Amino acid sequence: DIVYLNGELLAKKDAKISVLDRGFLFADGIYEVIPVYNSTPFRLKQHLERLACCLEQLDISNPHSEIEWKNIIRTLIERNGGGHLSIYLQVTRGVSEDRNQLIDEVSTPTVMLLASPLIVNEESIETATATLLADIRWQHCDIKSIALLGNIMLRNKAQQLGCDEAILHRDNLITEGSTSNVFLVKFREVYTPPQNQLILGGITRDVIIELAEASGLKVHQQNITVDDLLTADEVWISSSSREISPIIQIDGKIIGSGQVGPVASVLHGEFQAFKKTLIN
Ligand code: PLP
Repeated sequence: DIVYLNGELLAKKDAKISVLDRGFLFADGIYEVIPVYNSTPFRLKQHLERLACCLEQLDISNPHSEIEWKNIIRTLIERNGGGHLSIYLQVTRGVSEDRNQLIDEVSTPTVMLLASPLIVNEESIETATATLLADIRWQHCDIKSIALLGNIMLRNKAQQLGCDEAILHRDNLITEGSTSNVFLVKFREVYTPPQNQLILGGITRDVIIELAEASGLKVHQQNITVDDLLTADEVWISSSSREISPIIQIDGKIIGSGQVGPVASVLHGEFQAFKKTLIN
């Protein structure tokens, strides 16, 4: 396992950061998770754009140009043996000598990337179960912050309840999953909550919207109520590591047929075909 840390490629056990790093002290940083299929990063441009956008919102200077990022990622993939990987990329504001929350001191961002195996199952779709929980997170879920306490509490609550994912709601409206975006199908039309500060604009969400529209499906980016979700014909969650994962049960209630629905099935197939056009 080779890790990238501030310009160096190191064995994971040798990669060390300062206890004064603001990522460690304050969770003052941003991350990305980029899927790699057959040694090729998927939608890399979009992941790097989201990273740049989040860094800008936090006033952390982007430590690398797009070309530099691409080179770092390519080298990391090579040094980790290529194939299917998940790249974790993290940038923090760097070291704060006096643990000062004010950011007027100039610090050099800490950059860390690591690669782990990505399990891809192109043949069959993995279904999942969910529980509905109140979205206790802050008002800036569009920033891919390394501060994940809310997500961690919700995800673990879901697991305690025997469910794979927590689907979150604020004021009776669905926001997203604790680690995913949410879609539903009603009368063969696709619905997903609008992109705003209350959700992370998922890269997979965008791919699914594009693929759905290209296959002639109507996609509505609009508010979804808890009741809409529970009475949908199909529900699925999306993320870089899970792609499309149909939700067949929410708090014990069967969704639709209780099996992978026809729209999810078609889009899963389109997704696999789309990946192949990019990596071959
Ligand atoms: N929403 C949250 C809270 C997430 O943590 C994630 C990914 O982990 C997503 C949405 C999906 O984003 P993406 O498709 O870019 O992986």
